Amino acid sequence: MKLGIVFGTRPEVIKVAPVYLKAKELGVDVVAIATAQHRQMMDMMLDVFGMKPDYDMDIMTENQSLNGVAAKVLVKLEEIIKKENLDWIFVQGDTTTAMAGALAAFHMGVKVGHIEAGLRSGNLRDPFPEEMNRRVIDQVSDLMFAPTINARKNLLKEGFEKERIIVTGNTVVDALLYVQEKFDLDAIRKKYVAEEGYVLVTLHRRENWGEKMEEILSGIRKFSEEYDIPIVFPVHLNPRVRKTVKKVLEGYEKAILLEPVGYITFLSLLKGARIIASDSGGIQEEAPSFGKFVIVCRNTTERPELIDSGYGILAGTGQSSVYKSLVKGLEIKIDKSKNPFGDGNAALRILKAVI
Ligand code: UDP
Repeated sequence: MKLGIVFGTRPEVIKVAPVYLKAKELGVDVVAIATAQHRQMMDMMLDVFGMKPDYDMDIMTENQSLNGVAAKVLVKLEEIIKKENLDWIFVQGDTTTAMAGALAAFHMGVKVGHIEAGLRSGNLRDPFPEEMNRRVIDQVSDLMFAPTINARKNLLKEGFEKERIIVTGNTVVDALLYVQEKFDLDAIRKKYVAEEGYVLVTLHRRENWGEKMEEILSGIRKFSEEYDIPIVFPVHLNPRVRKTVKKVLEGYEKAILLEPVGYITFLSLLKGARIIASDSGGIQEEAPSFGKFVIVCRNTTERPELIDSGYGILAGTGQSSVYKSLVKGLEIKIDKSKNPFGDGNAALRILKAVI
């Protein structure tokens, strides 16, 4: 059995790395295929896990369109699949890389495994284009690795055969445990932020660009001013995001604005945070492992487990709702006995299923 793992962005690397490393450990013939949809951010992450792509499509261009990315991945992956004679392609999550990767494999009769299958916001256009991507990937997957029971339920509701679905836990927990074991996170955090107890912010989603992001950041700033809690914000490289951050937070003395930080540093920042405000998907899954509460700055989440387990709240994107959610989050007592996203053995379950 020969397995190809396709990835192109930061979160994909984090979540496929445990599967790649475990495959190597188990002696599986595995090929790492990078699309480099997000060149810099993907590369930063590969170093953390000591991963070196066997193929690098290097597709990223300035102002790249979704169609441009998908077209390049479709064509280039076909060549690699042919050359390597792959039996399985694994894709992760909901990026354009993952969608086109799954489709290319499907077209060629190669089996598809979807890591983190079954997440749904219920709105085809939010998050855009991710909700569409995940639905398309599941349609063409031979095996769907659902991270939670809830994700499995979503798939069953859509009529997928239960034999195609395996509940594995989320590989993000595997990745996080790997890092926690290897590094002293408190010492790393101190290099960036001396004191614990800040609001950690990350924002990058396309549907929040512009006015919505301005509203969200204004709500966070108001909270920071009134409660005297500093903001720590590694700012995404996207110029649209940077413009808004500059407008709302530049010159504010309680805001520590950082360049995007490496994964290990980011986890150290998570560990030292009092509360988190984010529109990220992955961070919703990481925060419970550190016992932290997340204000999700979006109108929908495909990770209801976060809300159901009491680790988060859907804050929307208005200034006042973001502010109020942060205030609420400060008061809430979390039951930290359970991690809704996994136990750190997801990669092993995924590989056992295909072996
Ligand atoms: N992350 C990071 N550095 C940062 C911000 C985030 O390494 O400066 C990590 C974070 O730990 C999480 C992942 O990037 O695992 C989330 O990526 P992102 O928010 O870009 O994407 P999403 O999860 O929303 O698809």
